[in-house]
Amino acid sequence: MEKTMHGIVKEQAGPGFTYREDIPVPVISDDEILFKVHCTALCGTDVHMYEWNSWAEKRMTPPVVAGHETCGHVVEVGKNVKGFEVGDMVSVETHGACGKCYYCTHDLAELCSNQIMFGVNTNGGFAEYAKVKASSAYKYDPSIPDEMACMFEPMGAGVHGVEAGHVEGKTVLIGGLGAIGMTAVKAAKVLGAKTVIATARADSKLETAKALGADFVVNRKTQNLVEEVMKLTDGVGVDVVIEVTGVESSIHECLKCVHGGGRFVGVGLPTKPVTFDLTEEILYREIEFTGVSGRRIWGTWDNFAKVMRDPGYKLEYIIGEKFAMKDYEKAIERLRSNAPGKNILYP
Ligand SMILES: [Zn+2]
Ligand SMILES: [Zn+2]
Repeated sequence: MEKTMHGIVKEQAGPGFTYREDIPVPVISDDEILFKVHCTALCGTDVHMYEWNSWAEKRMTPPVVAGHETCGHVVEVGKNVKGFEVGDMVSVETHGACGKCYYCTHDLAELCSNQIMFGVNTNGGFAEYAKVKASSAYKYDPSIPDEMACMFEPMGAGVHGVEAGHVEGKTVLIGGLGAIGMTAVKAAKVLGAKTVIATARADSKLETAKALGADFVVNRKTQNLVEEVMKLTDGVGVDVVIEVTGVESSIHECLKCVHGGGRFVGVGLPTKPVTFDLTEEILYREIEFTGVSGRRIWGTWDNFAKVMRDPGYKLEYIIGEKFAMKDYEKAIERLRSNAPGKNILYP
């Protein structure tokens, strides 16, 4: 096998990435697997690293190969690794869990207190090859296309949000229809929600939500969301809301759409602290209020694999543009312009 490979490196503290062709191919330890990268999606986190903002400065020490939303096929398996063979298709859980802390030993590995982030703290997937601890690799059905398999990580928060909503048999409102919201619509249907209402401000997004199985859609630009939801629920409100935008006004509005005793799940991350009237909005209404961090390991992945195999969940709803890895700057530009869909890089 080759000894060097090409890829995108965060070489030093400060802005920018470097495209290199002389990166050593990773050498695995006994607990790791090596995989040949098929494709890797660009994430906001990669852009934090590229820009070298305060998030990046706090969390990482260059040099590191960037990229974490990745998939590929296994080419080498460490001596102690069980359950993986050469040729298996794998995707990576970015949140490398320690397996020892309170969270890891209580089925809450997504909250591990000693997390090592693939592609941030260790070399990642913007390269021809990547290695990862087998405990952070997910083997998936090869019928799932590459571009979809690298969505396990970024879209997984939406699926985890639906899991946290305990939606089976319930009436569910999905607030926000970016790629994660779209995924949440389909996940809610696949996980047995009785009725799904989806809301966004663009008719084109509402059409897609319907194609994904939303029973009702509300255009919050032209309609009053709370009024419409009340009409659809005999004046009661929904059982569960999954809020995906993280926008404060949307959070308050979505809270009004849940009936007393119902559940609010926050998936979208507000960019600044949000103020609540705790008594009126939550306590006196006995609202169960929760959020999600990453994906359940591996419950969310198994559920998401079911969603991906549903013929109604189509790549075209979540994918933006495709780029060669060396053209990463064009992909970053597209992400910064807020053009819809995930951008995918090929080594
Ligand atoms: Zn990401
Ligand atoms: Zn841990």
